[in-house]
Amino acid sequence: MQLKIYNEIPSGFETIDLDYIHTLIQGPCLFHLKGERDDALFISTLLHGNETTSFSVLQQLVKKYRTEKLPRDLIILVGNTEAAEKGRRQLPGQVDFNRIWAEGDTPMHHFADEVIEYAKKQNLFANIDIHNNTGMNPYYGCVNVMDSHFLQLASLFSKKIVYFTEPHEVQSNAFAKLCPSVTIEAGRSGDIEGIDVTYNFVEKVLHLKSFDDAFDFNNVGVFHTIARIRIHPEANVDFDNNDNTSSDISFIQDLETKNFSYLPTGYHLGYLKNPELLRVYDDFGVDVTHHYIKLIKSQLITNQMFIPSMFTKNIDVMKSDCLGYVMEKLNPEHFL
Ligand SMILES: [Zn+2]
Repeated sequence: MQLKIYNEIPSGFETIDLDYIHTLIQGPCLFHLKGERDDALFISTLLHGNETTSFSVLQQLVKKYRTEKLPRDLIILVGNTEAAEKGRRQLPGQVDFNRIWAEGDTPMHHFADEVIEYAKKQNLFANIDIHNNTGMNPYYGCVNVMDSHFLQLASLFSKKIVYFTEPHEVQSNAFAKLCPSVTIEAGRSGDIEGIDVTYNFVEKVLHLKSFDDAFDFNNVGVFHTIARIRIHPEANVDFDNNDNTSSDISFIQDLETKNFSYLPTGYHLGYLKNPELLRVYDDFGVDVTHHYIKLIKSQLITNQMFIPSMFTKNIDVMKSDCLGYVMEKLNPEHFL
């Protein structure tokens, strides 16, 4: 796939409905817009077609900077416009556009390589990849490198920061080799407040003169993702917290409200008939279920204190991706 690079956003972008986006822009492609300074901000949008906050933010930005000069160059990677028209993360047969940024041999991996080659030739100031999630989560930024400039960048979005190294095939991790880089989780897709917070964040970064070497780590909470909770694709799941359910797993109703809070040892998460249907894997794919979860008869409880994130009640997401992540909080003295 030949990388397409444009220097102008087509007219109509600011108001177009996503249902028609692919008729206006045939992604994936790049837009490189010139600004006052050449140290460019790189932003990705619609790497997942059903996560629309990034697109709404860019519509607002494009509208504003049609008549004003951009403070610095803005390079926009527009991702999966075909899936976006259909409101899908990706279409059947497509690869996940946020898992193509490492080794691989599909046409989309080659596309990602071309984007990286182009980016390497630019004077990059920062990279922002904007996503949404399905559960009830606070706004947070993710970094793949524990570096003060990265943490400062993320902190301009939220004081809650997640550090993860797997999956390593994500866009922010590839760009971490080029400039301070962050993945933004802007709440649920289309959430108005999430759009506002993200828009203000992008504006701040567009105007930021430089990163501060004396960044105070005490200003932020950094959480480290250590494991992923997977649900068997064949499991029947409900949220009735019922030991006598006909489902295989019956979670507590308010599962999603636990995101980013401490679950103490012995915390009740629901009922599970067959332990094989819920497993916890660390970054190396090792089954570490017994560290975090145990069953007393059919009661599902935590086996040690941990902090969950991205707990979701969306059963499709739960099965195709995961139920959520296990995190620990890092102390500032462990940061660097
Ligand atoms: Zn996403």
